[in-house]
Amino acid sequence: MAYAYDDQNIFARILRGEIPNSTVLETEHTLAFNDIAPQTPHHVLVIPKGPYVTYDHFAAEASDAEIADFTRAVGEVCRMLGIRPGDGGEGYRVISNAGETGVQEVPHYHLHILSGRPLGRMVKKAD
Ligand code: 5GP
Repeated sequence: MAYAYDDQNIFARILRGEIPNSTVLETEHTLAFNDIAPQTPHHVLVIPKGPYVTYDHFAAEASDAEIADFTRAVGEVCRMLGIRPGDGGEGYRVISNAGETGVQEVPHYHLHILSGRPLGRMVKKAD
């Protein structure tokens, strides 16, 4: 696997504090913040602090501690937003876009947490 991480991407700049963000949660290895152009009433981005480009890159090269921290952070954001179905919350969708087919705009691995309105089906049918 050959990923070249671009440390000038917008999320790298957020992590370095060069660009402000609306932080929802920060942990040792993870940052969660509100999307600047929310697609839904709740739209939170969760990113690892490490230099990973995609989900599969993170899965292959992050440490167990980073992966556990990230996964727990996603769950904690859902708890904070009150959207966990197990608590009677409305539910949510997590999405991670990767590469060209996934239409990934920012080349730093991130999960979108979307909730706050009905989200419809997962993807559009092919035309
Ligand atoms: P992608 O298409 O890469 O999965 O999604 C990138 C997301 O990052 C988009 O939803 C976009 O609105 C968000 N985004 C881009 N630039 C910024 C920024 O400077 N701050 C924040 N909070 N979100 C951003």
